Amino acid sequence: MKEELLRQYADFAVRIGTNPQPSQTLIINAPVESAPFARMCVEAAYAAGAKNVVVRWNDDAVARQQMMHTATEVLEDVKPSVERSLLDYLEDEGGACFLHIIAEDPDVYAGIDTAKIARVMKARSEHSKNYRKYTMNDLVQWSIVAVPGKAWANKVFPGAPDAEEKLWQAIFDVCRVQDGGDVVSAWKEHIAKMTAWRDHMNELQVDSLHLTSANGTDLTIGLADNARWEGAQSHTPEGYAFLANIPTEEVFTAPHRDRVDGVVHAVKPYVYNGTVIEGFWVRFEHGKVVEYHADKNEDVLGHLLDTDEGARHIGEIALVPASSPINRKNILFYNTLFDENAACHIAFGAGYPGTVEGGTAMTKEQLLALGVNDSLVHEDIMVGAPDMDITAATKDGRTVQIFKNGEWAF
Ligand code: ZN
Ligand code: ZN
Repeated sequence: MKEELLRQYADFAVRIGTNPQPSQTLIINAPVESAPFARMCVEAAYAAGAKNVVVRWNDDAVARQQMMHTATEVLEDVKPSVERSLLDYLEDEGGACFLHIIAEDPDVYAGIDTAKIARVMKARSEHSKNYRKYTMNDLVQWSIVAVPGKAWANKVFPGAPDAEEKLWQAIFDVCRVQDGGDVVSAWKEHIAKMTAWRDHMNELQVDSLHLTSANGTDLTIGLADNARWEGAQSHTPEGYAFLANIPTEEVFTAPHRDRVDGVVHAVKPYVYNGTVIEGFWVRFEHGKVVEYHADKNEDVLGHLLDTDEGARHIGEIALVPASSPINRKNILFYNTLFDENAACHIAFGAGYPGTVEGGTAMTKEQLLALGVNDSLVHEDIMVGAPDMDITAATKDGRTVQIFKNGEWAF
């Protein structure tokens, strides 16, 4: 792999993605197999002026063994020190920011009792609520960036002897990293374009959206009260810009948890807790999933929807044009970070407080009153077919075309 491209990618992840400030500690979560890339990120972070860089290593192979051999009750007994070790840095003067490097094997937990996985994941979510408040509310900069792992690359390019190389190339392509290129400038340009779409959506004052496509999708999504469209960059209360997801192609907002009706078909398989759910649809009534089906791993979809009360409602609607570089690649990445940027999506579970006016300063009760959903999960389901039409009903009674045949209509 070309050193130069890797360096560009690391620089982009650190400078545009996380944007560490001289007062801050950058915490990097990294799989052991991504060590060379993680080291480049450390270098880039110090070059960008970070006060301190802390790397926390993890390993899929160990995680699998643990999930397989440790008793559920033991795994559910999540020690306070796990979350505390993050809060210590966050509560420090100057604070912290986060870069999550992932190389996840989509089948990491394949074959393990799905009910056990669901219980353990739920316990882990419960024991990281205080930490997640920082990221869900954009109180600190955070960013997720992916690098190919062996298992992941083989899943995306089965049988290819150079699967890892191929996946690297695909990631570079969709992240606008190229030989002799200037990835930081390319992203500044892309961010400006997405910001314009976002601003236009906010000017329209949308009350509800209607999504239709030939695969049977016919879904009406009412927006939360005072919903605000977000896209591209996020900002902390101090005004530090960051990209939560690398890459990003979406303009998104908060649906009203009780105003979603109709049927929606997924257009891509979905990897949940290390298992792939395929060929599925759900039907909503008054915001709640009342019926669902999957050709493969329907029980896993059921576990996801039964996590808690909020998991049957949605917390996000995101608009992504079919011409997005990720969709044009025509590769299923088996990873939400990429796949969600290939198509319009909805998310089962929690909404982002930042997607309603003044939301990041509100209590959970205030957010719920506006219709912003709450849950332990947030799982993005790709629903944007290439022929999808979307119209908006505006608050002043107009009907406006938003998407025509999978593309922005304006
Ligand atoms: Zn999204
Ligand atoms: Zn999402």
